[in-house]
Amino acid sequence: MMHRVTFQQDGIAYDAEDGQWLYDVCESAGASVPFACKAGACGTCATQVVQGEESLGAQRAREIRTLESNGLDPRRYRLLCMADVHGALMLGASAKTPKATVSLRLRKIRVEAYRPLTLTVCEQRFAVESGELIFSPGQYMIFHVPGIDKVVRRSYSIASHPSDKTHFEICVRAVSGGFCSNFIHRLRPGDRIQVEGPYGDFRVSGGSQRDVLLVATGTGIAPIKSMLLSLLDQGDRRRIRLFFGLRNVSDLFYTKMLGDLRAAHSRFEPTIILSQPDPEGWSGLRGRVTDLIRDQVSPEEASRTDAYLCGGRAMIEDVKKLLIHKGMSIEQIHHETFF
Ligand SMILES: Cc1cc2nc3c(=O)[nH]c(=O)nc-3n(C[C@H](O)[C@H](O)[C@H](O)COP(=O)(O)OP(=O)(O)OC[C@H]3O[C@@H](n4cnc5c(N)ncnc54)[C@H](O)[C@@H]3O)c2cc1C
Repeated sequence: MMHRVTFQQDGIAYDAEDGQWLYDVCESAGASVPFACKAGACGTCATQVVQGEESLGAQRAREIRTLESNGLDPRRYRLLCMADVHGALMLGASAKTPKATVSLRLRKIRVEAYRPLTLTVCEQRFAVESGELIFSPGQYMIFHVPGIDKVVRRSYSIASHPSDKTHFEICVRAVSGGFCSNFIHRLRPGDRIQVEGPYGDFRVSGGSQRDVLLVATGTGIAPIKSMLLSLLDQGDRRRIRLFFGLRNVSDLFYTKMLGDLRAAHSRFEPTIILSQPDPEGWSGLRGRVTDLIRDQVSPEEASRTDAYLCGGRAMIEDVKKLLIHKGMSIEQIHHETFF
């Protein structure tokens, strides 16, 4: 069964298959809707639905959260990257101006090394089989995971140094009941998968001489690690602090790497904090990354520091509020939201 999708702002129409992903429909129709994360996280593709909203199914909590955090009314806007078409549809104006839309370029990659980091987090190292991968630290790749009846796409941030153009690493938490994260955990050396990218605007501000504050929770450390490795290679003297939040001792990973970097670079100061450590076995800091910001960042430091945050939406919102309260301007705060 086919459904007519009309793009009012472009004056075009397209016949979509029942269940077709609206991102694919936009691409095939040549519509000017802008996309970035394609995972419901950034809000770039928010678009008004003029008629036939019921054809897109109910909004998920994640979609509503993303629309609201972009200051958009979920009753008026839909995220096209989160919807499949099940009926006739007329789309109105996009909330954001179309930027240069990203072109879909699939690459084959091969697992070169699999490394479990904790019971639920693993690192995968890939060899890029087609062309060179040129990316900015902080960017992510979209993995195409073969599902039962369609390919499922999920974003994973690059965790490695950008100087290696033929390999990259990711670190992934196996989400309970999660389709792609568990698929990626099962990959072993020699396995192949397709990816597209790199994508994303989460990058280190070029030319800034301000100090750097990196804040990560869980696997939010992935893009932060890539940024950190690249920043430490640059021959400036900026202070780089990392606040890394995890839950329990069993969740700790990358601690040796961070310790080694600290020993090699006096300007790098990592701090790890656990929110729910066992009573025994942890003599370090207890609490959340927000506690570190409250206690360890002075207003004077905030004014001369750029912050890069990565993790869940709630943490990012809380940290942003605190940093702004300390006197950091919104332009100094950069973030990537995973879920
Ligand atoms: C730009 C970007 C970069 C990302 N980079 C990374 C990365 O480097 N490492 C990484 O581990 N993840 C990363 N993610 C998250 C990743 O894309 C997936 O959302 C995550 O792996 C879950 O996918 P899934 O298919 O396994 O779960 P799904 O099948 O999509 O979800 C299954 C269930 O788990 C819930 N859920 C989904 N994600 C999470 C989560 N992260 N925590 C708790 N519950 C969740 C869902 O609400 C659902 O109920 C990134 C996301 C974005 C948008």
